[in-house]
Amino acid sequence: MTAPTRYAEALLTGMLGTFGLDVEYVRAEKNTLYHLDDSGAEVPVLDLVGGWGSLMLGHNHPEITAYAKELLDTGWPVHSQHSAHPVADRVGAVLNGILAREFPGAEPYSVIFANSGAEAVEAAVKHCEFDRALRVKSLFEEIEWHAGTALTAVRAGTAALPDDTSLLPGDVPAPATADEFQALLGAVAAHNMGRAATSPVFFALERAFHGKLVGSTQFTYNPLFRAAFATLGPAVRFVPPNDAAAFEKAVAEERVTVLDVEVADGRVTLVERAFPVVAGLIVEPIQGEGGIQELTGEFAARVRRICDEIQCPVVVDEIQTGMGRTGKFFASSHIGLLGDYYLLGKSLGGGIGKTSAMLVRQSRYRPEFELVHSSTFAKDGFSTAIALRTLELLEAEDGAAYDRAAERGERILAMLRELAREFPDVVADVRGKGLLIGFEFADQSQASSPVIREKALAGLLVFQLGSYLQLAHRIRTGPTASVPTMLRIEPSIHISDEEIAQLRTGLTEVCRILRHQDALPLVLP
Ligand code: PMP
Repeated sequence: MTAPTRYAEALLTGMLGTFGLDVEYVRAEKNTLYHLDDSGAEVPVLDLVGGWGSLMLGHNHPEITAYAKELLDTGWPVHSQHSAHPVADRVGAVLNGILAREFPGAEPYSVIFANSGAEAVEAAVKHCEFDRALRVKSLFEEIEWHAGTALTAVRAGTAALPDDTSLLPGDVPAPATADEFQALLGAVAAHNMGRAATSPVFFALERAFHGKLVGSTQFTYNPLFRAAFATLGPAVRFVPPNDAAAFEKAVAEERVTVLDVEVADGRVTLVERAFPVVAGLIVEPIQGEGGIQELTGEFAARVRRICDEIQCPVVVDEIQTGMGRTGKFFASSHIGLLGDYYLLGKSLGGGIGKTSAMLVRQSRYRPEFELVHSSTFAKDGFSTAIALRTLELLEAEDGAAYDRAAERGERILAMLRELAREFPDVVADVRGKGLLIGFEFADQSQASSPVIREKALAGLLVFQLGSYLQLAHRIRTGPTASVPTMLRIEPSIHISDEEIAQLRTGLTEVCRILRHQDALPLVLP
């Protein structure tokens, strides 16, 4: 029998096939995916990819699937756009309760729902720019008001004419009459209009990953995902993570000013005002796709200060790190990074829904945004109800799920660190927090085994090792989106001691293969 033609991502599936990873799974529960063997029997595979982080509660959590069935059986409205959504408000209430707990003193946050992580990123980017445009408008209204007041004062003789026009480009002479002053105000307005056209700049961190849509891909550092589309999106400037001085310097380089007039001590003076050109900074508290890299508390504190000085909103992308994966609901709470925006996705859908959320601090929230941003599927009845149930499960028993994520994570990390000590020649690093873990192998581009060397040089070593783990040990691991020597391990909170032991056995064999440069099991697992 010939295989059916592939229409859906045939190239990618074919590539997975070269590593024996084009497996069709037919059932899933907790951390296990099942495929069928030739006799039709189920073959269990330990799934450590965890739906790229969307399975904090595992595959098909029984309470979530039972609730989903109940919603469908009772005819719960899935699409009732433009109506009241108290369930969505309850999701907001739970999230606000968590925020208040993890960031004591935080003000309330409004919620905009979206469908995917990248879409939440784009909603945040749009909101940042919407907010910036409104701040620009207020700034110009204020300047116009000041100009009017100054002109009135000059005409009334209560303020002297400005004697210094050096802030205006060109050799503009100081005005000698009220009419000349009015003309000068025209020149100031023209100058400001020129500046008003300055395009906004966003900041993101090197190694960042924020999605792959037209806008969000601009914030994703890896040029593989960005370069071909750079002409399509907003200007994003990347700065190194954990280097606040570099950020401060870059912000200073972007500084743009406009001119205002002030009446002080009986004289009109021209003054510079900062023009809001920096529209936002977006960060992941722990870079996931970038290779499991944590931001430091010191960096977070300095960045917060710099952003406050220039009124630049801080968008904290918790799409991968959030929902308790790191032992707290918000990974940013470990480093005390208070965001103006928080983004959630992945596990918010409980492993079966597709939903995401953008939270905006109310003092920065622009309610008019709701009139210009929407999606047919966002805030749908099904996913939103599932999100609420998921949050309730996570919050149950005083957040036992978060403690479990921390405890299971520590246990896995301890096991991996033991392996790193046992195989210091082949393990470069073990990094992570809670159930967001990276196991990094040493560079094999000089390996004596041609198979290992070639795969390393092609940046495909983790696929080859992942293939071996899958075929020989029935363990599914994933790569990160940028470190070609790292296996990423993102299981659900249900991972058992036996499953951790299974991982240890598999990884021990991988380390032995690399140590002895014995590629045979890789080729014939
Ligand atoms: N932000 C982060 C931090 C992510 O890890 C991801 C996905 N890996 C995204 C955004 C994009 O989410 P999605 O794939 O749902 O669009």
